[in-house]
Amino acid sequence: MVEGLNELLELVKMFCGSICNNVFEVLLRNPSEFLDEKLASEINANVNDVRRALYELQTLGIVTYRRERDESGNFIYYWYANVEHLNQLLLRRKKTVLRRLEDRLKLEEENSFYTCLQDGIRLSFDEALENEFRCPRCNTPLEFIENDKIRKRLKELILGLQEEILNEERAFTR
Ligand SMILES: [Zn+2]
Repeated sequence: MVEGLNELLELVKMFCGSICNNVFEVLLRNPSEFLDEKLASEINANVNDVRRALYELQTLGIVTYRRERDESGNFIYYWYANVEHLNQLLLRRKKTVLRRLEDRLKLEEENSFYTCLQDGIRLSFDEALENEFRCPRCNTPLEFIENDKIRKRLKELILGLQEEILNEERAFTR
C-alpha cells in the first residue's frame, strides 16, 4: 500500500474538497475499478458531484480510468487509483523533506546557538555576539545551547529517509 497516505488525503481534501477526498479514499482502499454510480452510492453523494470530483482527481494525476463501449455505443468509465503515479509523487515529497533536513543539520553543525531562559528566544553565535551575549528583548545574559541532541535526531531522520528513498527507487526501476 501507499506510504504517507494520510498526509496525501489531507492534501486532496484541502485542494478539492471532501467529496474528492471520499471518492479518492474508496478508490485507494479497493484495488478494483469503479463506475461513477457505484462510487456515488458508496459514499452517499450525488453522482454529478462524484463525476466532478473524479475529473479533478484525474487532473491531479492520482486517479485514472479504463473506457469501454456499452451495447448502445456509449462510453462507460471504470475508475481506479493511479498508484504508480502516487508513489512517484510521494517519493518526490520525501526528497524535498530530506533536503530540508540536510540543510537544517548543516546549519546546526556550522553554528552554535544561544538562548534566553526568560523568553526562549534563540540566537546564532553571530547574533548573540552582536547583542553582547544579552537578550535583545529583556537584557538577560544568554545561555549557550547544547545542540548535540538535535543533531543526533536530525541524523537519524536523514538516514531513515535516505534508506526509504533508496528502497523505493529500486522498486521503480525493477
Ligand atoms: Zn530575554
